[in-house]
Order: sequence, then structure tokens, then C-alpha cells
Amino acid sequence: MHRRVFALSAAAAIIAAACGGSSGDATATSATSTAAPTTTIAPAAPATTATSPPTSSTGVATETPTTTQAPPPTSIAESAPTETATTTSTAPVPAGETSAPGDPPGAETAGSPTDPEAGDGSSADPEAPTGTVSTGDTSAPSDPPGTETNGTATDPDAGDGSSADPEAPAGTEPPAETDTPPDPETPTGPAGEAGLGDGFYPLLGNGGYNVLHYSIDLDVDPASNTIAAVTTITALAEQDLSAFNLDLSGLEVHDVTIDGVAAGFSRSGSELTVRPGLALAQGEEFSVSVDYSGTPEPIDDPGAPATALGWHWRDGVVYTLSQPSGAMTWFPSNNHPSDKATFEIRITVPTSTTAAATGLLVGESTAGGRTTTTWRMKDPMATYVTAVYIGDFDRVDHGRPNPAGPLLRDYVPDGAAPEVVEALAVTSQAIAFIEEVLGPYPFEAYGTLVLPFDLGLALENQSLPVHGRDILSPEIIAHEAAHQWLGNSVALEEWDDIWLNEGFATYLHLMFAAEHYGFDFGAEMRRLHQQLLFFAGTPPKGITVGELVGPSVYFRGAMTLHALRLHAGDETFFQILRAHYERSAGGTTNSEEFLGIVDEFAGPEAVDLVESWLYDEAVPELPERQP
Ligand SMILES: [Zn+2]
Repeated sequence: MHRRVFALSAAAAIIAAACGGSSGDATATSATSTAAPTTTIAPAAPATTATSPPTSSTGVATETPTTTQAPPPTSIAESAPTETATTTSTAPVPAGETSAPGDPPGAETAGSPTDPEAGDGSSADPEAPTGTVSTGDTSAPSDPPGTETNGTATDPDAGDGSSADPEAPAGTEPPAETDTPPDPETPTGPAGEAGLGDGFYPLLGNGGYNVLHYSIDLDVDPASNTIAAVTTITALAEQDLSAFNLDLSGLEVHDVTIDGVAAGFSRSGSELTVRPGLALAQGEEFSVSVDYSGTPEPIDDPGAPATALGWHWRDGVVYTLSQPSGAMTWFPSNNHPSDKATFEIRITVPTSTTAAATGLLVGESTAGGRTTTTWRMKDPMATYVTAVYIGDFDRVDHGRPNPAGPLLRDYVPDGAAPEVVEALAVTSQAIAFIEEVLGPYPFEAYGTLVLPFDLGLALENQSLPVHGRDILSPEIIAHEAAHQWLGNSVALEEWDDIWLNEGFATYLHLMFAAEHYGFDFGAEMRRLHQQLLFFAGTPPKGITVGELVGPSVYFRGAMTLHALRLHAGDETFFQILRAHYERSAGGTTNSEEFLGIVDEFAGPEAVDLVESWLYDEAVPELPERQP
């Protein structure tokens, strides 16, 4: 209902479409079934036209960056397509394939540095809990129906995942009680929790370990929408672990190894429970490798009512759209933004098609009519903004805005109208605008991937957001760019703090829109405040999971910042914004930390003001503007 009020505004509808806020159908419906608004938040521009001349190359691949992403001279031995295409292999990924979490900055070539600590056999810790199970054991006879088990040392109740209903919304089922005595032949000791206890998604993520690095090998047949994949996770045990969970929805798991040794596993719902032959010890770094295949299926999520989440396939085009839970449809993970990690993704597809992923392209090789590209994200990334794309795309290079800046490149549909490329030219202006406010862009590359069809939304996938063909307005391009600082570099610890993502990105994109279109920002914010009075419920910190992408977190979240700005004055306000970003860059934050910064720079009255905007049902008045 509250979203419906705000969908009255054409601009609001466009804004709400950012980051999964609304489907194209929903936007179209609301636009045609309601009266025209008397006020709008920003001048609504045609979705696919830019109003200013581009500042960078508008041609396709006409500008070659000085620092190229050409294939490295060394072979990418670890990504040989013939190996990743094999679905029946039981051999674990060699330790050398797992690049170190701390990849040195600037090392753009492939042949990722090997991790000397991966697969070092440290699982044979003499102090680890005992109860070794031989690899020939079968699963327990009491496996519940529908639970897929394999290999060794499986315990159907391990990880509390057995209650998860495969039909239930992702990550929302509470863990079941574990009251079955442990199998005497399995490692004893504590198991990792099946979830991290997020208020909205108690089962998303998993307890007991912290992921350092993901190495994902994907062999994809885009014609049949099938994958054969190996994901290797380097992680640190935060407690003794007789078992731990990964999040994975659908697909068939063939084999799981830990440090190269076969491990037992069982599945229930989206919980993949892994049992090492020997329990892992607190503080131990380990490498778990999952070999799997099948057709990834998108999932429903109560936090994304307008679209299914995860791996999407449409007419041979693959894209991923995962906020908040969808990543587990295509790779096993600790699926919560509070556990970010570095990534290396290798995608093998027919040479006739193009693959792209979040990160910097660091390698490309072709063999047997199939091309493997390697994508490195050396800065921590949350699973939900990790993405792959496959289709007939053209890469448009824009070079770097300055020698220290990111490599700017877009991916547009082959044969896209010139207006598509022209619309994206605003990107470098948006990046420069946000850098003025928050500081240098946080990642190695940036750009937009435009799908060859309408989507009604865009999502801020890290370093390479995805936009429907219909969502290319300057404000949305600026919105997804702003998320690279706030949402991606500074990530959420809990999903119910999503106003820290959406309110901030909305405020920055409204500021950018005011400059871009030349309208009076203060007057527009006063009009937005008047609109807010029509939905005087659900403050940003009072939302339900169904309002995760609702108007409160976008608009009342943005207005919270505007009220703080009016109260504290521009100088103090922008100091607060910058401190909020800089102090958590590369990590995570929460509302309490933000309020602490507000207190530090602007005092307790400002804290009271922000809290009234975040928690009170009534929409507060706007304060008088301070100089
Ligand atoms: Zn957003």
C-alpha cells in the first residue's frame, strides 16, 4: 500500500525500480491505473536517453584503456575448459587453484598466486575432536525422506537444516531443534549453526566459520541452461567444527572435499551440511570444494516480491539478480552480507557468446570452441552482489577517468540502439560526483551491463550492475554507482538496516539528479517531504521483510539524511557521510555505528532527530536549515 502511494509519481516509480524495488509489470500497472501526480521527486527523464553529451567514448570499444585487460602471456592453467566441463570428476580442485585472499593490489595478470596455506593437510590436527569416520561409510539409515545424502559421515540432523521446507521462502525457516544423539561414528563436538540469526532471514548464512575467498569454476551451456561447476571456498574456522553448513538451493551435488579429502554431506532445503572426516579446529584455515551441476532455478523470496531471485535464463541470456538470497541458486556460500570475501570466477562458454562477471577481467583463453574468462574481485564482496552474465553482449571500453581510477567498461546487447550507449555516458559524471562526496571509487573496475530486454529494475552488482533495457535514466545509473560505496564496500550486518543502503543511495542520486537536470534540490526535498506525509507509517527501522525494497527505506531513508543535513549544516553533514563511508569501507556497518558518528560530529540532539526519523511512526517535520 505504501509503495502504491509512491508509485503515483513517475519519478518515484523509476526510483523504486532501482535495486529490485519493482518489476516492470508493477511499474506499468501503477502508472496506468492511478492519477497523475501533482508533484514529482525529480524530473522524469525518458529511461533510455541522456540529456547531456557524453564525456567519454560513445562508440563500441573505440577507446582502449592504457591498462589493458588483454589475456596474460602466461596460460591460465587452472581454468582449462576440458577440466571444468567434467561433471563426474571426483578429484578435488588442486590447492594451487585457490588464489590467496590477499591478492596483491595491481596484480592484473592471471595465474593467480597460489595460496601456500590451502590444502596443507592441517585438518589432521591431533587436538581435534576424535571420532574419525572412514570414507567408506554410508549415510545413516534414518535419513529423512527427501534428504539427499552422499558419501561419508553424514548426519541427517547435522546443522539443524533438516527442518527446512524446500518450498519455504529462502532463509526464513527457523532452525529445528537438534535432539538426536550424535552418530557414534561421526566427529563429535559442536557443529556450525545453520544460519546467522538475521532477523529477517535466520537461515541465511551459516555460523562457525568466516569465508576468506571464493573460487568459482562455471562451465555453462547457455542453449540448454545447464551448468557444471566447482566452487572452492577458503575459510577460517571460528570454532571447533564437527560439521558446518553452506547455502545452496537446487542443483545436484556430486562431491565435497575438505583440503582435498572427501567429506560427507547431506542436503535439506537450501542447507548443504558438510561433515569433515576429522573435525576442524578453531582458528584453522580450510578449503572446502563442492562439485555440482544441473539447471539453476531462481527462487522466491518475501523480500523481493516483484521478481524471482538468483540465476535467470531467458532466450539464451543468463544474468543473476540475487538481493537478498538468490546467490545460493548458483554457488554454495555463506550467503549473508556480513561475511564478505574476495572472489575469482572462471566462466567457460561457447566462443560464439560473451561472458562477464563482477570483477576485473584478468584472463581469457580459448580451446575446443569454448572460451574461459577469469574475473577477479580482490576487494571483499557480498554474495548477493556477485554476478555472472552470458549472452551476445558488446563490451564498450572507456579507459580510466584518472590513472588511479577504475577501469570503466560497459556491456550492451549486440546491436543495441546508439541511445543505450549514449545513456551510459553519464556514468563517469556520476562516479566523479560521488567521489567528491565520499572519496575515491572503491573497486578496480566499474560499468553497467544492459540486458537485451526490459526488466523494470536494476541491481548494484559489485563493479558491474545489471540494468533492464528500460532502466537507464541518469538517476538510476547514479543510484547503482552510489551503492558501490554504500551497500557494497560498506555492507550491511543485518538486512533490517537496508535503509543504510537505499536511503543513502537515493539521497546521493537525488543530489546528482538536481545537478544534472539543474533543479532546486531543497525545493524538491520539501515536495518529497509532503509526499511522505501520505504514508506516515513504517519508519525505516520498523519495516517487515516484505518492505525490504519498499518506499520507506528509499524515501524516508533519504529524507532522514536530509533532515540531518538541515539540522547540522552542510559542513558537518558531509563530514558525517564521509566518516560513515571511510570507517567501514571494505567491511560492514549498522545503524548504531552510524548514530555514533552522528553523535560524534553533531551531538545528541542530532541523534534524537535521526532516531525520530528512523523509529517514530509519524513523519517528523523538517528542521530549519542551518548554514
Ligand atoms: Zn538501491
